[in-house]
Amino acid sequence: LKIVRRIAELDHFGRGRVGFVPTMGALHDGHASLMRTARGECDVLVASLFVNPLQFGPGEDFERYPRAEANDSEIARNAGVDVLFIPTVQEVYPRRSTTVSVPELTDRWEGAYRPGHFDGVATVVCKLFNMVAPDVAYFGLKDLQQCAVIRRMVEDLNIRLELRFCATLREADGLAMSSRNAYLTVDQRAVAPLLYRQLLGTATAIASDGQDVDSALAEARMSLEMAGFVPDYFALVSTDDLRPLDEYSPPASLIAAARLGTTRLIDNLQLPR
Ligand code: AMP
Repeated sequence: LKIVRRIAELDHFGRGRVGFVPTMGALHDGHASLMRTARGECDVLVASLFVNPLQFGPGEDFERYPRAEANDSEIARNAGVDVLFIPTVQEVYPRRSTTVSVPELTDRWEGAYRPGHFDGVATVVCKLFNMVAPDVAYFGLKDLQQCAVIRRMVEDLNIRLELRFCATLREADGLAMSSRNAYLTVDQRAVAPLLYRQLLGTATAIASDGQDVDSALAEARMSLEMAGFVPDYFALVSTDDLRPLDEYSPPASLIAAARLGTTRLIDNLQLPR
C-alpha cells in the first residue's frame, strides 16, 4: 500500500484498469466491501480518505467527524488497495473553489435537509475524478441520492468513466454500516436497527399486501417516532431519479432519514420489481 498526500504524486499508476473508491475515512466493512469488489475488477486500485468540508453545513459534524488514519490504512491494505490518497484540505482547496452543482435531483430529501451538501459532494467527486483519472469508480447504494447525483454529473459533464453502485453492508441486526454509528449511545444503538426493520415492514405492506402508499408511509413515520426517532423523511421514490411516488410502480425504493439524538441515520430499500 502506497500512501500519497500530494495530487502531483498521483501519477504513473502503471498499466491497466484503474479503479477508485472515494471515502471520508473512518472505514468500516461497508467501505471495505466496495474496495474488495473493485479489487476483483481492476488492475490498480486507488482509494481516498478526505473529510470534505464543502459537503458539511454550518452546525453539522465536520469537526467531530471520526478520523482514524492508521486503522483506515490497515483496512485499505487488507482490502487490496494499492494507492491510498490522503490529501489535506489545503491540497484539495488551495483557494475558494469553482463548484459543481447538479440541479433537480438535489432539491429534495438529503438536499432539502442539508442545503449545499450535494454541491459539496459533486465538487469534490469531480475534482477527485480529475486527480485520479480512474476507469471505474465505486459508490455505495446506502447513499442512494448521492448515487443518482453522481450518475447525473458524469452524464451531464461527459466524464469518461464507468460507475459501479454496490449493495449496502449491514450489521447482524440490520443497521446499515456507517461511520456515524460511532456517535450512538448504547441505548440509541439498541433502537437504531428499527429504521431498517421499518423499511422492510413498509416494503412488505406496499409491495406484497397492497397497502395504500400514503397510509403505509404515515404509519412508518409514526412507528419511528414512537421508538424515539425524529424522522426527517420516509418516502417512496423512483429508484433512478428519486421522484416521490404516490403509487407503487417499480423500480421503486423506500428512502429514510431519521435522527436519534444528535445522530442522523439514513437508509433505503429497493422494492421488488
Ligand atoms: P463515506 O465515507 O461515508 O463518504 O462513504 C464512502 C463510500 O462508501 C460511499 O460511496 C458510500 O455510499 C459507501 N458506503 C458507506 N456505507 C456503506 C455501507 N454500509 N455499505 C456499502 N457502502 C457504503
